[in-house]
Amino acid sequence: MASKRPRFPFQPDLFGFIAGALSGEKKNPEPPSFDRLPSLRSEKKETSRRTDLPRTIDLDGTSVSYLLHRSSRRTIGFVIDESGLRVTAPKRSAIHTIENALIEKRKWILDKLDYYRNRRLAKPAPLHWQDGTVFPYLGRELTLHLEKSATLRPVFRLDENSLAIRLSPENPVTVADHLKKWLKTQARKIFTGRLQLYAEKMNVRFDSFGLSGAHTRWGSCSAKRHIRLNWRLVHCDMSLIDYVVIHELAHLSEMNHSPRFWAIVKKWYSDPAKARKTLQDLSPVLFSLFAETD
Ligand SMILES: [Zn+2]
Repeated sequence: MASKRPRFPFQPDLFGFIAGALSGEKKNPEPPSFDRLPSLRSEKKETSRRTDLPRTIDLDGTSVSYLLHRSSRRTIGFVIDESGLRVTAPKRSAIHTIENALIEKRKWILDKLDYYRNRRLAKPAPLHWQDGTVFPYLGRELTLHLEKSATLRPVFRLDENSLAIRLSPENPVTVADHLKKWLKTQARKIFTGRLQLYAEKMNVRFDSFGLSGAHTRWGSCSAKRHIRLNWRLVHCDMSLIDYVVIHELAHLSEMNHSPRFWAIVKKWYSDPAKARKTLQDLSPVLFSLFAETD
């Protein structure tokens, strides 16, 4: 990869942001769910020790899988979390005793499993754009500061860890819309710079560049050499932006995803598979930071 290592290593930071901001640590009211993302912050629980036995049981017509852990405890215990149902039982408990205990507790078990399944499927809610809201920008966390201003035109001030917007109370445009517009302006500037940099290195020529807000893709390249990059990439670390830039520029030489195409990408970006996976994982959250579709 040609770019130098970013100051804020992307993955832990943005995931950290998501886990932290959305779990309410950053004073966001009504923290939205982030269950669709693998949380890198949570400690790996001892959910699958080698001695644990995976088993299934039919509870009211639903086949429920669980892990059975034998321990020195005297009673049968149940734990349900994101990873499912875990049963701890005394070493000598017969299977039918354990199963009877499960059947007895079936309502609680089914309800809780349902709850976690729904949480997993829930789409993250948009952020509340207000003073103090923390959001990702170029892979780092920025705190939004809202200041009052007498002039109608909003003024933005970007620091290392914050973005201040001076706004007139008379201004009818919402904070979210002001911010989105600002993010798109930054995105255009930053992406243009990266496209020029890599086009030169890769010795390719694109005709035009535009921003997109398509929910399904991070970038595209047309046969007419028009490159579009999703403005929401501006939330991501520069190394991820570079991956998409390099990917689209590589299409100028290979309009497909053939081994030849990937060989070009790999020449300029060391781990495209990892970048793809990271973008995929981040998509649900990055695409729902704002309420509107674009
Ligand atoms: Zn492609």
